[in-house]
Amino acid sequence: MLRSFLLYLSERQALKNLLSRYALGRRLAGRFIAGEELEGAVRAVRRLTGEGFAVTLDYLGESVHETRHAEQARDVYLGILDRLEAEGIQSHISVKLTQLGLEIDEALACRNLRAICERAVRCRSFVRIDMENSAHTDATLRVFRAAQAPPEVLGIVIQAYLYRSETDIAELLGCGARIRLCKGAYKEPPEVAFPRKADVDANFVMLMEKLLASGHCHAIATHDSKMVAATREFARARGIGADRFEFQMLFGIGRRMQRDLLRKGYRVRIYVPYGKQWYSYFMRRLAERPANLLFLLKNLVRG
Ligand SMILES: Cc1cc2nc3c(=O)[nH]c(=O)nc-3n(C[C@H](O)[C@H](O)[C@H](O)COP(=O)(O)OP(=O)(O)OC[C@H]3O[C@@H](n4cnc5c(N)ncnc54)[C@H](O)[C@@H]3O)c2cc1C
Repeated sequence: MLRSFLLYLSERQALKNLLSRYALGRRLAGRFIAGEELEGAVRAVRRLTGEGFAVTLDYLGESVHETRHAEQARDVYLGILDRLEAEGIQSHISVKLTQLGLEIDEALACRNLRAICERAVRCRSFVRIDMENSAHTDATLRVFRAAQAPPEVLGIVIQAYLYRSETDIAELLGCGARIRLCKGAYKEPPEVAFPRKADVDANFVMLMEKLLASGHCHAIATHDSKMVAATREFARARGIGADRFEFQMLFGIGRRMQRDLLRKGYRVRIYVPYGKQWYSYFMRRLAERPANLLFLLKNLVRG
């Protein structure tokens, strides 16, 4: 119930305006984001890569409804790629298609995505399309295919909570796509997604096994120690080396597990979000773990 309520709030403009306006909101969100400006994100990326982590940088924003805003987001990403290259930082980027204009026109989102992929090729980077709510799954997969970028340049995300994901993964593996598997972060009806955590977890393990067995390099994105253990165990039993997949985790979450996996010789990529549009991302992080709400309330009391 609490999860549903927080996910409902994540789409409420009035609360977004209120929280975003105050320094307190920024301070609270600071646990999960690397700052509002690229400078802060670059500092975080340097620190993480210095510790041995791989990274993917996300310029926060979604559900853009004006073409010029979608093009601005594209230009920000082009600037990020140039900056990373100029500083010699190895980083992937993660993009949301609704930030690049998906809700305005699929062709616009595709044009913007292609421009980013072309720059990524020049900068020897990699672009991952985040997966948003199920209303956008078909369009996201269509744009991913229409972009016609090679698998070493462009990858996609699949959410284990959706019933359709097994079929989507089979099709994507057929064309050699590189996939990030996550559980799924949005409020979805029982008609499209498993309502029970146990079923989501079981589906995650089944899909993880398909990905690891495929022989391509995929990403297993979770902070769930049971999912991590299942992945390690499957890889060990099948003789799949630690260089044939990677774990991915979010900035500021599960830090001990991140370091522990790194020490054990696994590749760990940290998803580093930055930017002023942190509200919806922040609310989804609160929804994932009710204890985060206590942390928020304690900070509110402290002022
Ligand atoms: C790199 C990465 C990229 C992602 N990309 C997408 C995407 O494109 N689309 C999408 O829908 N979702 C995405 N997600 C989010 C994902 O779908 C889940 O909502 C999120 O990872 C929580 O699920 P979990 O696997 O960690 O397991 P859960 O069962 O939710 O959590 C397991 C344990 O992890 C810890 N934990 C989980 N979340 C938090 C949190 N917010 N704060 C503190 N501790 C926490 C807690 O200890 C919890 O008990 C991404 C996640 C990661 C790690």
